[in-house]
Amino acid sequence: MSARDPNCIFCKIAGGEIPARKVYEDDDVLAFHDINPVAPVHFMLIPKMHIATLYDVTNGDAPILGKILTLAPRLAREQGAGDGFRTIINTGRVGRQEVMHVHVHVIGGPDQLGPMIVRRAN
Ligand code: AMP
Ligand code: ZN
Repeated sequence: MSARDPNCIFCKIAGGEIPARKVYEDDDVLAFHDINPVAPVHFMLIPKMHIATLYDVTNGDAPILGKILTLAPRLAREQGAGDGFRTIINTGRVGRQEVMHVHVHVIGGPDQLGPMIVRRAN
C-alpha cells in the first residue's frame, strides 16, 4: 500500500498536519470542504492513502473508490445538496488536476449548476 507522500498537501490534511473543515472521516476516507468553493456545497472525498491520479489506481483500490462513491450522495444530502449534485474527478494536465492526490469533488446547492464543460467557440 502506498502510504503518505510527505510533499502532498492532501496527505498532510489526512494526517492532520494541515487543518481542514472536515465533513466525514473514517479509517481510510476523509471528506473536507474545498477551500475555494465554486458552489454553496463543495467538498472533496479522498482516500487517506496517497494515490496521485486516477491513472495510478489499481484493482486493489476498487473497494475504497467504491466506498467514496457510496458516501458521496449521503454526504451531499447531509450538506444541503438534496436535489442533485455533480461529482468531478480531474485527472492530469488535460483534466487540469491541481492537487496530485486523487479526490472526488462533490458540488451542488439549491440552484442548478452551470453546464458541465463550457464549449469553446471555434
Ligand atoms: P483539482 O486538483 O483541480 O481537482 O482541485 C483541487 C482543489 O483543491 C481545488 O478546488 C482547491 O480549491 C482545493 N484545495 C487546495 N488546497 C486546499 C486545502 N488546503 N484545503 C481545501 N481545499 C483545497
Ligand atoms: Zn497525497
